[in-house]
Amino acid sequence: MTAPIVIVGAGLAGLRTAEELRRAGYTGELVLIGDESRLPYDRPPLSKQFVRGETDDTTLRPAEFFDEKQIDLRLSTTATALDTAARRVTLADGDTLGYDHLVIATGLRPRRLPGLPELQGVHVLRGHADAVALRDELRGAARALVVGAGFIGCELAASFRASGVEVALIEPQPTPLASVLGEQVGALVARMHRAEGVDLRCGTGLDTFLADEAGRVRGAVLSDGSEVRADLAVIGVGSRPVTEWLTDSGIALAEPAAGGGVLADEVGRTSADGVWAVGDVAAWRHETGARKRVEHWTNAGEQAKLLACALLGAEPPTAARVPYFWSDQYDVKIQALGTPGAADEVTVVADDGRKFLAYYAKDGVLTGVVGAGMTAQVMKARAKIAAAAPVADLLAST
Ligand SMILES: Cc1cc2nc3c(=O)[nH]c(=O)nc-3n(C[C@H](O)[C@H](O)[C@H](O)COP(=O)(O)OP(=O)(O)OC[C@H]3O[C@@H](n4cnc5c(N)ncnc54)[C@H](O)[C@@H]3O)c2cc1C
Repeated sequence: MTAPIVIVGAGLAGLRTAEELRRAGYTGELVLIGDESRLPYDRPPLSKQFVRGETDDTTLRPAEFFDEKQIDLRLSTTATALDTAARRVTLADGDTLGYDHLVIATGLRPRRLPGLPELQGVHVLRGHADAVALRDELRGAARALVVGAGFIGCELAASFRASGVEVALIEPQPTPLASVLGEQVGALVARMHRAEGVDLRCGTGLDTFLADEAGRVRGAVLSDGSEVRADLAVIGVGSRPVTEWLTDSGIALAEPAAGGGVLADEVGRTSADGVWAVGDVAAWRHETGARKRVEHWTNAGEQAKLLACALLGAEPPTAARVPYFWSDQYDVKIQALGTPGAADEVTVVADDGRKFLAYYAKDGVLTGVVGAGMTAQVMKARAKIAAAAPVADLLAST
């Protein structure tokens, strides 16, 4: 009998990899290890419907699914080390587990800002437990401070406003989402938050938190010397790949300055024989040759499919991959297709004060499109992005 395929990390990417392995015909033993106690669940609703109290359950598959598919799901189980020569993974209770192939799907952990006091009422958001703590405190809150206007910070600011809470949103960059979508589109997102009553302060960082006598946050001092009052704060300043358990494994990791993560080729093979990486933790090689991590939902499923095919020697999907992600803020769905980047040339082709559409290009070649409340127009650009068409083609037909 051969050893199992072991997947470490029972989040979206780990679950999808198990599903795709079964779909591609793998009938051998399949073990899915997760350090959380819950069945694999979806994270996008956590900053949206879940925190607003509109949904309670974001489970991806019921318990019976794992029996049906013969996936040996081991929850509350943490992998602590990997021996690639012996093909064994060590678990927190000291047990070891042999593998034929091992898939690293351990995701991310939120970054924290150093030098801040540990206070009640200060939150981060990555997992279900974080979201429960945040939702519970939101019920009694009047004023919230959100530190960082990336996707999670912007979504939380929108959810807090929808819950009737005053929001201060601070961001050191000149606009929200500036490092991902550039300042031009960031300014359109800023306008929407201001119109919704958010006290958005760009070019401003957090100096320190202020506490009451019980050790609970009551506000913050900002880098410009001003003070804001808040009875709840969230730090949304990005995340780090969970790779510390691989420190002695010899697996090649990306430099932290380059975003960290497990280095992998264009189908997820790492530097060690039989070890693969998938999802937010994985820095896959892209068409440009660059290896970078992608922290979006759709990517996890697409990578899982490619990885499963490669691992089993099956035919990979042939359709061109056009990356996609979305973010829901207020009543607006912001969607991105392709690889729009902050350094690209941006042309805003529609803007009605709330909804907008922008094309992104490099050297005149369309790289992506970003729209707010413009689903049909965004999706229309898919074929042109896949064909690396001149942006002028789209501009002419707009
Ligand atoms: C609040 C929030 C909102 C989001 N909204 C959107 C959105 O609107 N649109 C979008 O495109 N994307 C969104 N995303 C991103 C999307 O959810 C992620 O891309 C996706 O969850 C990545 O899945 P993953 O399996 O790689 O990582 P994760 O979902 O983080 O799963 C990794 C799992 O591995 C476990 N683990 C870690 N270390 C170990 C270990 N040593 N042993 C065992 N288990 C371990 C972790 O506890 C976790 O359960 C959002 C993410 C968050 C957090």
